[in-house]
Amino acid sequence: MSNRIILTSEEKDHAKLQEVKEVLKSIPGIFFSFEPKKELDKPFIEWTQEGDFPLKDGFFDAMNEFRDQDNLDSSDYLIFLTSRKIPGGYFNGIQFDKKNIFIDLENWERLSFERATDQYPIAFHVWISVLINHYFKNDEAKAIAALHRIDKGCILDFNGSKEKVDLKIQTARICSDCINTFLQLNSDPNLLSYFRSGIEQIRQSFINVIYNKKIAPQPVPVYLRNAVHKRMNYRLEFEGIGFVELDASHLTLYLYFLQKLNSYKKSLGNSNHKEGDKENLIRLQDIGLDYYLLLELYKTFAISEEEDEDLIQEKLSVVEKFKKQKIVLPGVSPKEEKEVTLYEAALKVINKEPVDSKIRNNPKVKSAIEAIKELNKEQKAAETRKKKKEKNEKSISKLCQLKIENGQFKEFKNNDLNLGMTKINKKLSEFLGTFGLNEFYSIEDRGNGKYGVSPEIEFKDSTGLIKSITTKIEKFDPIKIIWNIEN
Ligand SMILES: [Zn+2]
Repeated sequence: MSNRIILTSEEKDHAKLQEVKEVLKSIPGIFFSFEPKKELDKPFIEWTQEGDFPLKDGFFDAMNEFRDQDNLDSSDYLIFLTSRKIPGGYFNGIQFDKKNIFIDLENWERLSFERATDQYPIAFHVWISVLINHYFKNDEAKAIAALHRIDKGCILDFNGSKEKVDLKIQTARICSDCINTFLQLNSDPNLLSYFRSGIEQIRQSFINVIYNKKIAPQPVPVYLRNAVHKRMNYRLEFEGIGFVELDASHLTLYLYFLQKLNSYKKSLGNSNHKEGDKENLIRLQDIGLDYYLLLELYKTFAISEEEDEDLIQEKLSVVEKFKKQKIVLPGVSPKEEKEVTLYEAALKVINKEPVDSKIRNNPKVKSAIEAIKELNKEQKAAETRKKKKEKNEKSISKLCQLKIENGQFKEFKNNDLNLGMTKINKKLSEFLGTFGLNEFYSIEDRGNGKYGVSPEIEFKDSTGLIKSITTKIEKFDPIKIIWNIEN
C-alpha cells in the first residue's frame, strides 16, 4: 500500500497546487500516492483580518484540526501550500511528530525565472521535506543538527532564504555525509535510492523547462533521395544531419507514415488551425487499405534488376536456331557416324559425355554451348526474381496483415508491423538521439491502436517516387478486406 501525501491549499491557490501535484506525480514508483484535500466545511485557517497573521504554530494547529476533521492516518503526510505571507519569513516548515509540512508559494520566480515554472522548486521542497521527515521521524533536533550551515549544494543545506536554494535544486545532490546519516536511520538502500530518483526527476524536468525556453530541439526537414552506389537505391536525408540507412521494408513503412503526414497537412490546406494530431494518426488496422502503395514502394526498394522478358525471348530464339542446324558426329567407322543437331551436340559437351575433340572444338558447337549457357543463366535469374517477388509480396502482406487468397484480401494476424516500427524507432533514436530530435520523428503510439509521427516535421519527396506510385495505383481496383469473424 502506498504512503499518502495529502496536498492542501486555500481555494485561491488551487491552480498552483494542481501544478505541484503533477510534478510530484511524475516521479516513478508507488511508494507515495499524491492526493488533493477533501472539501472543507470551513476555511483551512481562520485568517482574522488583513495584516493579522497567525504565528507559525497557527499553521500547524489548523493542519491538525484538518487531520481530525478528515480522519487522516498518522502515517499520512499533510502538505499545506500557501501564498499568504508567513510570519518570521519562513518559507518551509516541518512539524516532525505530526508529519505536517508547509511551503510558501510566493517569490520563487527569481529561481525559476518566471512564475509559470515555479511549481518545480515548490515540488522539490515538498519532496525533500517528506524525505527529511520520513528519515528523522520525531527527532527534530537530530534533523536540525544534520543540516549544513555552509552551503554545499546538498539537499540538507540550511538555506535561510529562498535566494540560496538555487544551488541546492540545480545540483539536487545528497552528499556522502548525508547518505551515511540517512542509511544509519534506515539501512534500506532501495528507499534512499527511490527518494534520490524523485529528487533527480524534479531537477531534470525543471532544468529541461529552463533550457527548452532557449534551446529546444527544432525538427529539420527530411527528404527522400536517390542513392548512388549504395546497397539501397533510395534513402532518407535529414537536413544538416545526414542520411539514415533503412532496409527496404523499414523504408517502405516509414515513408508510409511520412506520406500520411503530408496528406494530412494538405487536407488542412492553408488554414492555420492546428487541430491536434488526431487526423494525422494511422489506425493500424487501416494499413492494409494501402496495400498497393506499400507493395509498390517495397518493390522499388527491394528489386534493383528489372524483369527482362525480351532478353529471355531473344536468348531462346538463338538456342532454337541451333536445334535446327545439324552436325555429323564421327564414329569409328563411317557406319557409326551419326547426324545430330548442334543443340544436341552442345548438350553432350555440357553434360560431359564422351565427344570427339573435333566436335568439341567446332566453332558452331562452341557457339551453341555459349547460347545454351546464356539462356540458362537468364532463366535462373528470372527464377530468382520470381522468388524474390513472391518473398516481397509476402513481406508486405505480413506488414499489412493481409493474405491474398483467390484474389481476395483476408486478414492475417502477425507481429511484423509492430516489430518493424520498433526497429525503425531504434534506428532513428540511434541516428538522431544526440540532438534530442528523435521525439519528433519516432513513430509514436498514441493509444487505441493509433500511431503517428509529429506533425511538426516537414517531409519532401525530392524523387517524385510517391507521386508516380500514387498515380499508378489509382487505376487499381479498390481493396476489399475480408475480416475474421472475431473482428
Ligand atoms: Zn549533505
